[in-house]
Amino acid sequence: MKILKTIEELQEVRKNILGTVGFVPTMGALHDGHISLIKQARTENDIVFVSIFVNPTQFLPGEDLDAYPRREEADKKICEMCKADYLFMPEISSMYKEEEVLIKAPNKSYILEGKARPSHFDGVLQVVLKLFGLVQPTNAYFGKKDAQQLTLIQQMVKNLFLPINIIPCPIVRESDGLARSSRNVYLTAQQRKDALLISKSLYSAANLIGKKEISVEAVKNRMYEVMETLDVEYVEIVNREFDKIDTIEIGNTIILVVARFGNTRLLDNIWL
Ligand code: AMP
Repeated sequence: MKILKTIEELQEVRKNILGTVGFVPTMGALHDGHISLIKQARTENDIVFVSIFVNPTQFLPGEDLDAYPRREEADKKICEMCKADYLFMPEISSMYKEEEVLIKAPNKSYILEGKARPSHFDGVLQVVLKLFGLVQPTNAYFGKKDAQQLTLIQQMVKNLFLPINIIPCPIVRESDGLARSSRNVYLTAQQRKDALLISKSLYSAANLIGKKEISVEAVKNRMYEVMETLDVEYVEIVNREFDKIDTIEIGNTIILVVARFGNTRLLDNIWL
């Protein structure tokens, strides 16, 4: 595996690649969730690029940009183990100019995650578009864990006519059900235990729906009951376009949860 630190190095490598290119953009502190994306990219493409870039424009003032876990050496080993061909780790100063062309995410980016983190998705789309321009992937891999992000990236690719396939990948969980996240390291032992109620609430929702309950209100109530002791920021049930719905439709519904543990927000969801 070759590590590319500059944009010039990446462009030099990219222009000589003829086959299919799989791309996994990340912010590092890699875990099994990222690994599953890289492994899927490996099986489906001739060449695999992973990027690690903690993108400042998607963090709001006061968020954890400076504290975001950084594990460069361990991450390099993981990418190597997953047989990535190139690991791109650019400096912030090379990715952003003094004056930028800004990306304005659509209105739906201001609900749910975008309501809690206004303009967060502007920054996400901006960096993803830049990375797409550099890597020019055939296939780009994104986790369903960040459901709203995935949907907005799909919309951007469609709206801007980018010739890139966006491949949604399943959520990877710890053996006890907690969705893998780079931010799980912030949790105390007690918070880590309490956080299990998030996935438990999603499983109980799925169970209820399995018993033919299709009322969004009833399902949400059950989830709030399960997470009674948590600081739940939201439970929302939406369709694949992220419109709120009243009745659940199998094949076109996503149930989303965010709960807070001190300063740490944990996201989880299931796609029905
Ligand atoms: P991040 O490093 O948090 O920006 O995540 C990079 C990519 O990994 C995004 O597409 C995430 O959705 C994906 N990802 C993060 N956690 C998981 C997980 N537990 N399962 C599957 N994909 C994940």
